[in-house]
Amino acid sequence: MRYLPIPELTKADVARLWSYVERGDDEECWLWTAGTTAKGYGRFKLNGKLFAATRLVYYLTQGDPGSRHVCHTCDNPPCCNPRHLWLGTASDNNDDSVQKGRYERKTSALRGPRHPNRKYDEETKQHLCTLAQMMTIRDAARLLGLNESSAYKIVRYGHT
Ligand SMILES: [Zn+2]
Repeated sequence: MRYLPIPELTKADVARLWSYVERGDDEECWLWTAGTTAKGYGRFKLNGKLFAATRLVYYLTQGDPGSRHVCHTCDNPPCCNPRHLWLGTASDNNDDSVQKGRYERKTSALRGPRHPNRKYDEETKQHLCTLAQMMTIRDAARLLGLNESSAYKIVRYGHT
């Protein structure tokens, strides 16, 4: 299966996307409250096309999933908690046991330093500033895996 390339999201798109996500604690599932597929996966209309909500959440928080599947560690289709999403291959997605087996590895990867190259690049800063309009800077920083005090500086003064 091939995925539509994810287009540039405007601030309004990002705000609309997050407005459909019922955000909770880190460990909780963040449920999609708008339209879903028959299987319960969130759908989001962007430029007249339907996208999987989880792919867009992954895109905004961790980077473009490209041709890979965005899978759930929690097996909860409407869940959009970025911490519950991980990238798998087609066979990962079809093989539940594999998915379960990778859970630990994925969560530990999330805790470590990730994306060192794009940590404070312009794209990340922009996402941070957009997210910070919808949640606290602290939450936005945690969502993007950024250092909290750096995040404050980026949002307040526009630099790291
Ligand atoms: Zn979940």
